[in-house]
Amino acid sequence: MESTPPPPDRSTALQRGLHGHCPRCDSADIFRSHWRLRDRCPHCGLALELEDGWSYGSVPLSYGLAGFCWVLPIFLLALFGAIPPIPAALIGLAGALILPLATFRFTKGLWVGVYYSLIHNEMAQPRPRDKGDHHG
Ligand SMILES: [Zn+2]
Repeated sequence: MESTPPPPDRSTALQRGLHGHCPRCDSADIFRSHWRLRDRCPHCGLALELEDGWSYGSVPLSYGLAGFCWVLPIFLLALFGAIPPIPAALIGLAGALILPLATFRFTKGLWVGVYYSLIHNEMAQPRPRDKGDHHG
């Protein structure tokens, strides 16, 4: 039986999340599919989906990223006359729809990393006995 690895420091947990890896053991196997996290890390048992819908906390990250990195620059380019308003609106809307989908996995991993870097002591919990995905 594998033992629970010691929790990394907060910065390492966040960096692992940014790379879409388990914050505790650095496993890259935290996604069940492109769109869904596993309930637990298959290597160390860390809870990745704390309750139904918990990981949807990544949605505001996706929209914040799209707004700040796409819509705001397009808006400013239109405001200062570099792009006519109608094409700017269409480009901004297209990006606002596409970017959250394109960054979905990234923001899910980031969400897990942010959570465990902030609630750092939860990573010290021992490996649970039932470590499998039990729904979905
Ligand atoms: Zn793990």
